Amino acid sequence: MVVAGAAGAAVVDGGYLISTSPATGAEVGRFPVAGPAEVAAVLDRARAAATWWAGLGFAERRTRLLRFAGLLTGRVDELTALVHAETGKPVADATLEVTAAVEHVAWAARNARRVLGPRRPRGSLLQPEFAAHLEYRPYGVVGVIGPWNYPVLTPLGSIGHALAAGNTVIFKPSEHAPTVGDWLVARFAEVVGDHPVLQSVHGQGGTGQALCRAEVDKIAFTGSAATARHVMATCAQTLTPVVLECGGKDAAIVAADADLAAAAAACVWGGLANAGQTCIGIERIYVADAVATEFVSLLVDRARRLTVGSGPDTDIGPITTAEQIPIIRGHIEDALSRGARAVLGGAEAVRPPYVLPTILVDVPEDALVVREETFGPTLTVRRVRDVEEALDLADAGRFGLGGAVFSRSQGLALARRMRSGMTAVNSALSFVGIPSLPFGGVGGSGFGRVHGDDGLREFCWAKAIARRRFRSPVPVLTFDRSPAALAGITRLLRLRYGRGRR
Ligand code: NDP
Repeated sequence: MVVAGAAGAAVVDGGYLISTSPATGAEVGRFPVAGPAEVAAVLDRARAAATWWAGLGFAERRTRLLRFAGLLTGRVDELTALVHAETGKPVADATLEVTAAVEHVAWAARNARRVLGPRRPRGSLLQPEFAAHLEYRPYGVVGVIGPWNYPVLTPLGSIGHALAAGNTVIFKPSEHAPTVGDWLVARFAEVVGDHPVLQSVHGQGGTGQALCRAEVDKIAFTGSAATARHVMATCAQTLTPVVLECGGKDAAIVAADADLAAAAAACVWGGLANAGQTCIGIERIYVADAVATEFVSLLVDRARRLTVGSGPDTDIGPITTAEQIPIIRGHIEDALSRGARAVLGGAEAVRPPYVLPTILVDVPEDALVVREETFGPTLTVRRVRDVEEALDLADAGRFGLGGAVFSRSQGLALARRMRSGMTAVNSALSFVGIPSLPFGGVGGSGFGRVHGDDGLREFCWAKAIARRRFRSPVPVLTFDRSPAALAGITRLLRLRYGRGRR
């Protein structure tokens, strides 16, 4: 059924959230909207299940999560077709997304015990009678709030780690991707059916807000910086901890010694894949003056060949949400009105629900398309004197999510200096598919990490234990201590640190 005027919009009708194809407006799924009472009931079930799930231990959870990863792998075609239907994303993009998601879930399952399990850190020379114990405990119930642009990878990047750590999860998918979210939850129930370990709640922003108010034990939010502020303000009322994965305005730096053809191919893919609707998508390019003409020509030549449309095999699909289209148009028009030139696409490239690849040069640094997240298939290219100027400009904005550097001789050194949570060297977006690497930003891109060891610890609290093993040689931790014991401690302190030795 085609829902009139609904392409790219989420519709609530009769208490149901109706999700539609952004390309055709055809209904993809409908779900009852959850308000505060429904969220509270889901939370009750999640709490009851949390004791069971945590009690299973690392080995049992590993087995079940690996079964889940196996199930997703076995049904990858079904899942990618659903992502395509609901978000318009080309199937190739969806396949890469699901592949990365499965890798992260499996990695979390395999590594949770190593990262979170009990360990014995070194004790203190000043208190030799104590053994130190450290372990990481699950919070209990984690609320995961997801965006629509990577409706499999972004939520599972939090859900997999939260579950592996021993939490149960309540997942609020984006109003633009509830069917994908519901599918994931239903598949998980096929491998863990005994208790509601992973549940979903559906609705618009109000449902997300109800989840933040419900006093879950942690919120993992992925979405825009604007919504993140609301989430943090709501969670502040109950001191609910948050991890915030927000937007970006990622830059690529192309040095004079870069492999220009490879850099152009990577920038076109890193900037325009998923129609540019990627938090870590490249939106700005700073290229060394000496190679700029050749680079821009390679870039335009590569981008010009991309196909745009609603088919599963096109390179660029529709813009998923109707409200994003005027933003993209506004950014392009603002740049052109400030003297920028479109060497590909331009204002006429915006043809709802599509936007054709657009490459802008001579864009002033204060233009919207340089400062704000555009979230469309656009790239700006600016000539710079050298990599020093490129780094200054790349780091100038408030975001600090990802980025890329292209250089044969100094890629790693430049990557280290870029102010961003993640940087790819001679590639684009590659860090997101490496499960041992943490994912997250600095500044306006949020804080906290998903993926990797840090992503596992994000869903736990550290439990520290000091265990007395024998009578203290210099007992000072009671009021019965003698002046001699205290003097002994001071002597030890001087011996150890008095000369400022390392
Ligand atoms: P939004 O911020 O609009 O929404 C994100 C989620 O928050 C949705 O589920 C939304 O529900 C929900 N929400 C809305 N209002 C509230 C509220 N007051 N309280 C709690 N939850 C609420 O982001 P988008 O879905 O538009 O996603 C695009 C953004 O996500 C971009 O900025 C992108 O860069 C960023 N992103 C960041 C990533 C990262 O890892 N850093 C990865 C992917 C995307 P509803 O949709 O129903 O309104």
